[in-house]
Amino acid sequence: MNSIYSYYPDELKELMASIGEPKYRADQIFTQLHKGILLDEMTNVGKKTKEKIKEITDTDLPSVNKKLISKIDGTVKYLFELSDKNCIEAVVMQYEHGYTLCISSQVGCRMGCKFCASTIAGRVRDLEAGEMLGQIIAANRDLGIRISNVVMMGIGEPLDNFDNTVRFLRLVNMEGGVNIGYRHISLSTCGVVPKIYALSELDLPITLSISLHAPDDETRSQIMPVNNKWGVSELLSACKDYYKKTGRRISFEYTLISGKNDSKKLAEQLASVLNSSLRSRDEGMPIHVNLIPVNEVGETGFKPADKKGISEFARTLESKGIRATVRRKLGSDINASCGQLRRENMQD
Ligand code: SAH
Repeated sequence: MNSIYSYYPDELKELMASIGEPKYRADQIFTQLHKGILLDEMTNVGKKTKEKIKEITDTDLPSVNKKLISKIDGTVKYLFELSDKNCIEAVVMQYEHGYTLCISSQVGCRMGCKFCASTIAGRVRDLEAGEMLGQIIAANRDLGIRISNVVMMGIGEPLDNFDNTVRFLRLVNMEGGVNIGYRHISLSTCGVVPKIYALSELDLPITLSISLHAPDDETRSQIMPVNNKWGVSELLSACKDYYKKTGRRISFEYTLISGKNDSKKLAEQLASVLNSSLRSRDEGMPIHVNLIPVNEVGETGFKPADKKGISEFARTLESKGIRATVRRKLGSDINASCGQLRRENMQD
């Protein structure tokens, strides 16, 4: 059974028609569901109708299995349980401009990045669009807030679950629904190149974030197996194309791992490869690199670069015309980076 939150309004109309309900029922239900009212709580839908709907769709939201709140900055980390008992993670971060939710796109991940907790046990299954959306609605309900920004940086590779991800993006943007603007949504990818091209065709002005983590194929392939399939230059060509087609700037994520990818030489190489691949004399793409000290994950043995090394890396990039910021770490007391809570839970 599909999640009721996965349906577009016109599909919901068909669904209602299939159980002999009037079409207006679809809009009525869509709006309420997406605003956080559960089917069971709706006062304008009869009991019999509710039962019929439950026979053909899954009307549950992800439920809260665990909830951790940071004493330092109020970051909230959820372990959400899905209808089939699989668990995923989502993190609510509070910024001056509102609440941002980091959501998961798959149960587990098959990309195999060596530093990442989410991929250690592989991918179990893709999330439905409604299960991605459900994380937002469930967090809004639980905290009594309105999430205004979404980052697809939780468990999973969104471009490895392309169709559901695109459906989610369209649903989350709909008027009468959660209604979050595309410009308030970031999608992070380890570099599934054909899908970056596919995304650029869809005219969804979201922000693309590329998990680069190394400027050369040798280093990148050591820590990110996906690089064996699509190397750095192919990836950056796709980025250039994406920028040309959409006009949206791309940000690059660079996780600094001590002794692996944090040398001055690699910083210089990173600046030069970004400048030469993405900027030509007559057109300059704004480039922004987010530097993130790697989070230690028990199994990986990777250590973060030290503070001094990180600011030196940033300075080297800046001196070559690349904007670099060191990501502020939120929720450090609750292990807010994704993948680790689900993993702990699997081992209990
Ligand atoms: N699959 C997507 C999105 C999920 S990962 C992607 O690869 O982009 C979200 C971000 O967290 C990515 O930039 C990823 O490389 C980074 N990440 C994963 N494990 C990490 C760790 N242990 N420390 C720091 N960043 C990590």
